[in-house]
Amino acid sequence: SEKMRIDKLLAHAGFGTRSEIKKAMKQGLITVAGEIVKDPGLIVRSDNSTIAFGGTPVLYKENIYLLMNKPAGVVSATEDVRDRTVLDLLADSEKHFAPFPVGRLDKDTVGLLLLTNDGQLAHQLLSPKKQVPKTYEAIVLGTVNQEDQTAFMQGVTLDDGYVTLPAQLTILDRFTAAEGRCSLIHLTIHEGKFHQVKRMFLAVGKKVLHLKRITMGTLHLDESLPEGTYRELTEQELADLQ
Ligand code: URA
Repeated sequence: SEKMRIDKLLAHAGFGTRSEIKKAMKQGLITVAGEIVKDPGLIVRSDNSTIAFGGTPVLYKENIYLLMNKPAGVVSATEDVRDRTVLDLLADSEKHFAPFPVGRLDKDTVGLLLLTNDGQLAHQLLSPKKQVPKTYEAIVLGTVNQEDQTAFMQGVTLDDGYVTLPAQLTILDRFTAAEGRCSLIHLTIHEGKFHQVKRMFLAVGKKVLHLKRITMGTLHLDESLPEGTYRELTEQELADLQ
């Protein structure tokens, strides 16, 4: 824990701006160990568990970990001149932690996206050395077959000459849509090259029509989260990921 001004701690915990907090303190809403505190410059320890705002205990945290079901049409960058970003979907109470997306999903890709301000965890998950598996569900135009499974297991050569690491392809269903014969598949990759899944299918002559990420390491997309919404990771999810 560290020592900090109580107004800073309360602002960081999402209780408002510094000036709003100063006002609330004047009104006698903030207590430490049951005593009203009116000095916004009071130095407290960040792990002080006796701080309360209007009787509600204040939980200070340094890091935020959000599991988002990314919708189509937003980019997974922190800023963009043209498009809305995933950060635009967050409430101010999360935005002030300055989270960023861990890795990228294309604008038209949906599904699991982790947002955090924990640079160390992000680095671990993205490090090529760690080869953290990511599973995608996709609808592919054409009949995905065993030859494709073998090719992906052996590695395919992308348009820039890169040969992909072994990837596991599962064929779940085949059906006919307006576009023609389609396949529903799961693909697990252990790296994250630009447009990797789409380019792997292009390497075997097939086009991805719809792409959704469903896992990243131990983290699974929460199917009860509507697209465009998010929640904090549970303690278990965070512990499993670290
Ligand atoms: N592969 C892609 O082609 N696109 C994504 O968004 C993620 C993986």
